[in-house]
Amino acid sequence: MKLTGGMKAVVVGLGKSGMAAVRYLHRQELEVKVSEYRDLGEISGEELALLQQCEVEFEAGGHSDDFFAGADLILVSPGVPADIPVLVAARGRAIPILGEFGLAAGRIRVPVIAVTGSNGKTTVTSLIGHLLRATGKKVFVGGNIGTPVLEYLLDPGDTEVIVMEVSSFQLELAGTFRPDIGLLLNLSPDHLDRHGSMEAYAEAKRMLFAHQVPADIAIIGADDPLVMAEPLNTAATLFRFGTSPGCRAMVREQSVQLEPGFGAKGEKEVYQLAATRLCSRVNRYNAAAAVLAARSFGCSPEGIKNGLEDYQPPEHRMTPVGEIRGVYFINDSKATNVGAVVAALAGFKKDVVLIAGGRDKGSDFSVLRPAVQEHVKHLILIGESGADLARVLVGTAEVEIADTMDNAVALAFAAAGKGDTVLLAPACASFDMFDNYEQRGLVFTKSVQELRNRIEGK
Ligand code: ADP
Repeated sequence: MKLTGGMKAVVVGLGKSGMAAVRYLHRQELEVKVSEYRDLGEISGEELALLQQCEVEFEAGGHSDDFFAGADLILVSPGVPADIPVLVAARGRAIPILGEFGLAAGRIRVPVIAVTGSNGKTTVTSLIGHLLRATGKKVFVGGNIGTPVLEYLLDPGDTEVIVMEVSSFQLELAGTFRPDIGLLLNLSPDHLDRHGSMEAYAEAKRMLFAHQVPADIAIIGADDPLVMAEPLNTAATLFRFGTSPGCRAMVREQSVQLEPGFGAKGEKEVYQLAATRLCSRVNRYNAAAAVLAARSFGCSPEGIKNGLEDYQPPEHRMTPVGEIRGVYFINDSKATNVGAVVAALAGFKKDVVLIAGGRDKGSDFSVLRPAVQEHVKHLILIGESGADLARVLVGTAEVEIADTMDNAVALAFAAAGKGDTVLLAPACASFDMFDNYEQRGLVFTKSVQELRNRIEGK
């Protein structure tokens, strides 16, 4: 969308993304207003300072129709639901409504690699960024992973390539956004409370490819039945990764193998993972997706191999937190949907004591039944959804309910035998008991450390 000085823009929701939007639109000499759901007292000093500095008119404590009157453009921050009444009304009046990707569309002058999917986005985005850096590229990594894309527009510097994590919410308002290389890793039910149905959620994810042209590349996870359920509507060249024949990147036991076509001599390329931190089952898929993207972008195999070797996955994703008397503890607090839990359990025998539960996001917990039946010997349930999970998973494993994380860890240890694994993989959001998934993971880690100190008498 063309922006001209004097146009009136309303930014809905501040936070990191909203603040970047205010700064960007202000710099383009638009008349910027901000509508914020939080009360004035909850707005940070930094946010208030920016509003003052850019002389922004704002409303706090909710969104009112009057405030949006005369707007030429509405810019929505990622945390704001697309169906709040002011946005529905604005849509009715045909006011353009965009998110940060929609605004950035057409304004980015370097190649863009964008990653979406239900699980693994952050890991794959950070891994691609790492592989590109390892091959000497100047990379901006942003989007849903943390740094708003508009920060790039505010200061492009000498960036040569952008890697972005894109959520389904961001794709709903992405306008004509077009990645040179787009990745759809997998699809499993998530955020259905906000998207309404699995179809709407899958449709939002597939929008990543809608504006691609034949010179672009689309990379998809071929082992995922929901990704493969419908042909991809894209003009781009399609590459698949997984274990099925025809995949451009094959996921093997300890390696990723690229089929001929990338190297000058037409040979297969093998990327060993055994000595890396990417040898878990899910991370082998993530590595395949990332290697395929980096190689499609033209990175050298040597640079990619070096990058794989020293890559450190982000915390709270299958992160080992220690061992007590032969019982292993793993923190997968970021497993906030059923798909992540099913994927996490797939790597185990029936030797897992699973700690799950929290705030339900509209999930169908029955999806967990086969995986729990096969891999879990004992369930410790916490949080708001504990009773619901107990009902849905009845008969699959022994169940206990815990009221605190300390309690959950103690009960899990008591139920585990030598060689078993206590896995925190909640299948739910954390906000009923914790500030966020990071805090939940840290509390779990601390509970494990304290238990170890008690048991080992330190
Ligand atoms: P996202 O950004 O999509 O939430 P993360 O990399 O933060 O993805 O990982 C979220 C959760 O999904 C973690 O529990 C992690 O262990 C799990 N996970 C990571 N990669 C995959 C994958 N390829 N398939 C299924 N689950 C995955």
